Amino acid sequence: MIISMKTHASRQEIDQVRGIVEHFGYKVHSIEGEERVVIGVVGVGDVTACMESVESMPQVEKVVRISAPYKFVSKQFKPGRTRIRLNGIEIGGDEFVVMAGPCSVESEKQIMQAAEGVARSGAKMLRGGAFKPRTSPYDFQGMEEEGLKLLRKAKEATGLATITEVMSDRDVDLIAQYVDVMQVGARNMQNFMLLKELGKCGRPVLLKRGLSGTIKELLMSAEYVVAHGNPNVILCERGIRTFETETRNTCDIAAIPALNELTHLPVVLDPSHATGKRSLVPAVSRAGVAIGADGLIVEVHPAPEKAISDGAQSLDLAQFEKMMRELKPYIALWETARKGEAMAAVAG
Ligand code: PEP
Ligand code: MN
Repeated sequence: MIISMKTHASRQEIDQVRGIVEHFGYKVHSIEGEERVVIGVVGVGDVTACMESVESMPQVEKVVRISAPYKFVSKQFKPGRTRIRLNGIEIGGDEFVVMAGPCSVESEKQIMQAAEGVARSGAKMLRGGAFKPRTSPYDFQGMEEEGLKLLRKAKEATGLATITEVMSDRDVDLIAQYVDVMQVGARNMQNFMLLKELGKCGRPVLLKRGLSGTIKELLMSAEYVVAHGNPNVILCERGIRTFETETRNTCDIAAIPALNELTHLPVVLDPSHATGKRSLVPAVSRAGVAIGADGLIVEVHPAPEKAISDGAQSLDLAQFEKMMRELKPYIALWETARKGEAMAAVAG
């Protein structure tokens, strides 16, 4: 059950509601927005009596019964879509947003060339890892703060928003100073300390699906971030581990409409990690547009043959330009569909 308080309800009025909920034996988890407080009620058993009691309180705007284990991120809590605004763009709205750039930030020259190239082709956000989760401890671990500085420089030069991975709760404050969006990698989808810390970071979070994470587990992880105070979460399908070896991961394309049925949060597709092969990236990207993703996050490198990580799945700048050009008619259809959806919503 979720309780939405009236705007500007006083502290005392909020505490009264909490008191009633606790009286019925449930736990309270509140999100304090600038204008409004939303109280999540967690516990087992039939909530009807508690719900009726709270509904009659004058300071309460609305009470919604939510049966899913994830509450704040569910469509039952908030129909429609969450739109996340940053750096003049909107994810989850009327615009299909492409994020692109190298797997790792490797040098000033590399990230600048990548940034300028992807911006020219229509990307709105620059990706690049400064802290890298590598399977081997002997592989390149990322440029760390130097890499963050280069991302900031690339943003200043091109106007692109930036996204980078955060691997540890200890690095959250540092990384939040440098970039627009905090990426949680597949290997950290259930790093609950990190998710809780990101609830307080003040930046949107892009949460990747774990290598063997179910859709429900992905939503529960998103719930951690939202329940800890940050409503701006973007979900990312990046392929899951199956018995198939032809592709690096198996792209669970149906996860995108499945998530769109379950949550109001935006969903993007990562065709690079989902396939592991650059030749497959354009086709899978098209599928992402057609199936209703809110955007893509694509690996692009000015010289993929020299990339320190993930070169085989990275497009070069010309390949990215071609892909973006070929995606245009699909994105035009996507925009028409979104407009239709918005009109249907207004018509009720
Ligand atoms: C990445 O984006 O480079 C990355 C490490 O992705 P994932 O966490 O999906 O493996
Ligand atoms: Mn990568």
